[in-house]
Amino acid sequence: MTQEEAFKNLVAHAKEYGFIFPSSEIYDGLSAVYDYGQNGVEMKNNIKKYWWESMVHLNDNIVGIDSAIFLHPRIWEASGHVGAFNDPLIDNKDSKKRYRADVLIEDYLAKLEEKNNKEVEKGRKRFGDAFDEAQFRATNPNVLRNQAKWDEVHARMTEALGKNDLAALRQIIIDCEIACPISGTKNWTEVRQFNLMFSTQLGNVDGGVGTIYLRPETAQGIFVNFLNVQKTGRMKIPFGIAQIGKAFRNEIVARQFIFRMREFEQMEMQFFVRPGEEMHWFKAWKETRLSWHKALGLGDEKYRFHDHEKLAHYANAATDIEFEFPFGFKELEGVHSRTDFDLGQHQKFSGRKIQYFDPETGESYTPYVIETSIGLDRMFLAILSAAYTEEQLEGGEERVVLRLPACIAPVKLAILPLVKKDGLPEKAREILDMLRFDFNCQYDEKDSIGKRYRRQDAIGTPYCITIDHDTLGDNCVTIRDRDTMTQERVPISDLHDIVSKKISMTTVLRKIQKAQ
Ligand code: ATP
Repeated sequence: MTQEEAFKNLVAHAKEYGFIFPSSEIYDGLSAVYDYGQNGVEMKNNIKKYWWESMVHLNDNIVGIDSAIFLHPRIWEASGHVGAFNDPLIDNKDSKKRYRADVLIEDYLAKLEEKNNKEVEKGRKRFGDAFDEAQFRATNPNVLRNQAKWDEVHARMTEALGKNDLAALRQIIIDCEIACPISGTKNWTEVRQFNLMFSTQLGNVDGGVGTIYLRPETAQGIFVNFLNVQKTGRMKIPFGIAQIGKAFRNEIVARQFIFRMREFEQMEMQFFVRPGEEMHWFKAWKETRLSWHKALGLGDEKYRFHDHEKLAHYANAATDIEFEFPFGFKELEGVHSRTDFDLGQHQKFSGRKIQYFDPETGESYTPYVIETSIGLDRMFLAILSAAYTEEQLEGGEERVVLRLPACIAPVKLAILPLVKKDGLPEKAREILDMLRFDFNCQYDEKDSIGKRYRRQDAIGTPYCITIDHDTLGDNCVTIRDRDTMTQERVPISDLHDIVSKKISMTTVLRKIQKAQ
């Protein structure tokens, strides 16, 4: 199966089992907008909980807020979004398809990398145990040629983006003979800037109308509340403010399912520090965030850092935590050192003094900021894609199972009476009523037990319990483990403990290393 087919199966599975639906589907959908279904919303809430607990509840010096989506329009002028939140776009005249010029070039670079990786694999096969990858990369003529091309194109792109030179970007596309993936032609328009913010009109009290924006990031809602939170919470630097909420971007190239959406959710934390100490905190938060990811157990090899060479106008250091999605390593989370840019700008634009008096040094200053910013939907996709497994069982049968971290699984326990009679449903409902206060349980009495197990595997339920005729006499049930499919007979009175242990988020949270 190709990667593309596997990804298609995943998307189909997400729909079939009530995780993610295309938005407005009965009207043929709305591009790059998705709805979360009955299982999706539970899983999403669990991810939010995992993030919120680790940030807010487990750190003395981080608090949360929930700011409005609509903010004063001047905020977006101050932050630089009105002037500079742009993507360079280019159209293919034949297919009429629109692309981000930098993404076309990045795809080209990724192909060069792929070619070299293939060469290396060929070399490995040819030379066996004696193979020295570093030496091969340093001497093989094909690899050297591709690498030289990569270096040249990458340097040109970085320079063009840095200088905002749209003509230079276009020239790279022409020189590299990059063709439109749809039409196959190289018939390109000029490159233009495209602002990603959605705007709408707000009726003013005086009858006038003003343009306001749907927020493209949650961060600004935090910056403009810096003084409110610091004063009312008597917060001492270093401290952080966390927020989960919707963000909106008019993405030009919206593809890859929920990886790039026009309406999405972010989980952001801004950590305010003393000027000069930002690099220490930047490094500490990089490690803490990576350990938050790894604690979920999706596989340490699926993550890597990608440090930015081209920094945003507000940053003095930045890195992406990349995840190996089904379509390759891509950004999952950003950790940015934003200097005092945002608070400084809001001080300038609002005319209010936004400073912190440091009782330890006796000085007032504008704090520096380390930001950690992760897309909730991307996190959802990361977990879903790592969990999705098509398995061949003994006897030739197949099953699709979501090996979700148990604390993230939408349903924790399925309660299944073996048959729909003889008092078994009543007994099962008794157990359900006992456990549903602590776990999200699902009661199911339809179809054969085997089919019901498969349905639970497909949504990643860690445990199924079966109530049979013996249960009525011995008060024991069969508990089946999703991953091993082993079954064990246990007393009903032990169920709460067994399930609690398995699904505990606390165990996962304890593994996370803290920024210090
Ligand atoms: P990209 O380079 O992929 O466009 P970005 O660098 O613009 O992302 P940030 O502005 O740093 O992203 O946003 C922080 C996080 O928000 C990203 O790491 C990502 O997880 C998430 N995110 C950004 N844009 C989208 C989107 N259109 N759809 C879903 N998640 C997004």
